[in-house]
Amino acid sequence: MNKKIPVGILGATGAVGQNYIWLLQDHPWFEVSWVAASPRSAGKAYKDVVESRWLLGANIPESVRNLIIDDANDPSKAVGKCRFVFSALELDSKDEIKTLENAYAALGIPVVSNASAHRWTDNVPMLIPEINPNHVSVIDAQKKAHGWDKGFVAVKPNCSLQSYMTPVFALQQAGYEVKRMFVTTLQAVSGAGYPGVPSLDMIDNIVPFIGGEEEKSEKEPLKIFGSVSDGKIINAAGPLVAAHCNRVPVINGHTACVSLEFGERKPSLEEIDRIWTAFRGLPQELDLPFAPKQPIIVRHEANRPQPRRDRDEDKGMAVSVGRLRTCPLFDVRFVGLSHNTVRGAAGGGILNAELLKAKGYIS
Ligand code: NAP
Repeated sequence: MNKKIPVGILGATGAVGQNYIWLLQDHPWFEVSWVAASPRSAGKAYKDVVESRWLLGANIPESVRNLIIDDANDPSKAVGKCRFVFSALELDSKDEIKTLENAYAALGIPVVSNASAHRWTDNVPMLIPEINPNHVSVIDAQKKAHGWDKGFVAVKPNCSLQSYMTPVFALQQAGYEVKRMFVTTLQAVSGAGYPGVPSLDMIDNIVPFIGGEEEKSEKEPLKIFGSVSDGKIINAAGPLVAAHCNRVPVINGHTACVSLEFGERKPSLEEIDRIWTAFRGLPQELDLPFAPKQPIIVRHEANRPQPRRDRDEDKGMAVSVGRLRTCPLFDVRFVGLSHNTVRGAAGGGILNAELLKAKGYIS
């Protein structure tokens, strides 16, 4: 049997970091060998820091409980302990995260990141593997520009986009250009990390503001749908997106209510249903362990998808869509749902790492 690739987690004690530890416990290719967090946690056993704030429904995996946490600000500590890292850090500024992620890459340690710091670096791919797996090729230019040998940075997009980007991509791929999108998100509290939004702001309430989220929702699709030219990603010209982002009292699962306006070719509702149901995304031969078998699950009940009922589809990696109907303002509207800490965070990061391994960038 092949030996698994040892992997480190920056921000291992946080909401996303805990999800990495949970999801990687039986991973066939990767195993957690190193954990890092803030200087407050450094030097302590993982269980001693996290036990009282473990967010997942069961015990901390045995293989990680007694790992001693290192200071994530010192990349040299990772050398020899892991072959790549997942970054789930929350620092004071994006520039600090960028500098730190680059420092890992410079030491030959690839960084698969959940942070937003590098999303706008034009030679850093922002991956949703079912949509833009070809964007990994800009890593060659990135390594060359920095003089890095094995290290690089790859990122994933904002968590709320996952609820509708794959369905929109499937329609574009089938030849139906989406010109304008109107999106209202209903985002779970786990998206704000731990301890996150104060309970008195959240119980019996909705908060109609999430800092920076609307800008990300409106800009990130353009890079994800972009093309590769000269070692850089060139943003797509459209669709034009207007987003309203709301925090709602749901623990896990981001919902998005979406209206779409198409170009000259407009699909019927039956055609959209058929395209989504037939969509497979990644080539089967890649056989990535975290790739959902049915990336888009179409619900036909009048009141689905719902976070509590549908977020765990295909281990939380599938997107559920429903309420597909015509729109009096645009052409069609639907509701999309995805698990924000799995598909939108740690699970999405793991799928990115699997793609990078399959393409030879991680070994
Ligand atoms: P979180 O629960 O607040 O966890 C933050 C992590 O960063 C903890 O491990 C913390 O360590 C560490 N940290 C804090 N200050 C540090 C410092 N000065 N030096 C080194 N490490 C430090 O946040 P999260 O929700 O897991 O989010 C982590 C990252 O993922 C963020 O960049 C976020 O934007 C992104 N993200 C989150 C989601 C989501 O659904 N939550 C989705 C997509 C992307 P200590 O425990 O030692 O303080």
